[in-house]
Amino acid sequence: MTDPSATQVLRPPPPDPFGILTALPEHAPAARVWEACGAEGLIEGLYDEHGAVVPRRLAALLAAVDARGDNGVTLSVLVQAASALPVLAADAPGDGPVREALDGVRSGRRTVALAATDSGAAGSDLAGLTTAVDLGPDELVLRGGKRWITTARTADWFLVLARHRPGRHFTSFTWVLVPSGAPGVRVTPADTDLLPGSATGHVEFTDVRLAPGFVVGRPGRGMLAFARHMGTERLAGAQWALALTGRVLADTKERLTRRTVDGTPLWHNAAVRQRYATCLVRLRQLHALCDQLGDRIAKQQDLAAAALLKSAVGLTVDPVLTACAQLQGADGLARGGAQRIRAEAAVFGIGGGVTELVLDAVADHADQLLAELSP
Ligand SMILES: Cc1cc2nc3c(=O)[nH]c(=O)nc-3n(C[C@H](O)[C@H](O)[C@H](O)COP(=O)(O)OP(=O)(O)OC[C@H]3O[C@@H](n4cnc5c(N)ncnc54)[C@H](O)[C@@H]3O)c2cc1C
Repeated sequence: MTDPSATQVLRPPPPDPFGILTALPEHAPAARVWEACGAEGLIEGLYDEHGAVVPRRLAALLAAVDARGDNGVTLSVLVQAASALPVLAADAPGDGPVREALDGVRSGRRTVALAATDSGAAGSDLAGLTTAVDLGPDELVLRGGKRWITTARTADWFLVLARHRPGRHFTSFTWVLVPSGAPGVRVTPADTDLLPGSATGHVEFTDVRLAPGFVVGRPGRGMLAFARHMGTERLAGAQWALALTGRVLADTKERLTRRTVDGTPLWHNAAVRQRYATCLVRLRQLHALCDQLGDRIAKQQDLAAAALLKSAVGLTVDPVLTACAQLQGADGLARGGAQRIRAEAAVFGIGGGVTELVLDAVADHADQLLAELSP
């Protein structure tokens, strides 16, 4: 009779698709991490044959990148994989610059920054953006600027949301693909110590002239395409939030177990445990919501579900990370410590739509969301 333990030993270990990330140098920049993910097929593999993101694959990738502990790098990967790529891939032609960018970015060889937030208007007023594109028969001309753009300082391309006519109507906007080296493009670093790995910056476009083939999708469908794919970024944000807060909670528990007061680990202090447990409950609620809504957001592009999930992220991450940072005492203020992570995680309540604005969208869908509660 065969000894079952012997066959177990002989079985090869399951392949680790994220082993490539563990093998990278500790401080590998975002472009290197992106390249490794692309080379391993992890970016291409995020999307199914219909172009919809596969939630569990996206979650696994973001958790693996988050485990590297560089929030800026994770932000860069997230925006490229979940915001820029879906817009670039929608209606991409078979050849030309948009196809070239799409193939290059998906393979990890090239990088793209999504530039929607405008220098000429509040980020919460997307329809007020002033960056303008003149669509001529032989060339397009882009003028304006974008602020706080992730990956701006290292991207090969900018995917720019511009207006081709005045007015706030949703058909007034068009995506334009801009090579970062094109004459008239100027990038300046964002003046911040936070999220350095994200290479965030501001971009000016001064009479940038490009061939008509640099228009992405059909003119006038920019806002529609953005809205349609916004859910993927919101889902990704929730998945990253779960990975990040889960990591900090695990670290906090470990510290509380080791730290003693009068010979007793802080972990045994009832007030500490209850505060910690409250965070855990909040995190599990977010996890349940993410699980429940993931497919609806990815496959049905359900914007009510996406707004609900993003609001939940905004309302969960900050209190949980604030509690963790406090529970770590002075060590929370150490370089790269929990207080730093908490400050960087403010991006969850700002990037891709501030929490207040997303809560407005939840209120818009109140009747639908209430009806879904019926048994
Ligand atoms: C690290 C980082 C990376 C980013 N990366 C990108 C990127 O890659 N691409 C991109 O296009 N943009 C990016 N952004 C920009 C981001 O999307 C905007 O910052 C965001 O949309 C908010 O715009 P704003 O900063 O102009 O804030 P404002 O619109 O000026 O809002 C300021 C504050 O006013 C309050 N407020 C606003 N609207 C309402 C409302 N309706 N109800 C109640 N209160 C309200 C909120 O408290 C809000 O925080 C990034 C931002 C950061 C910080």
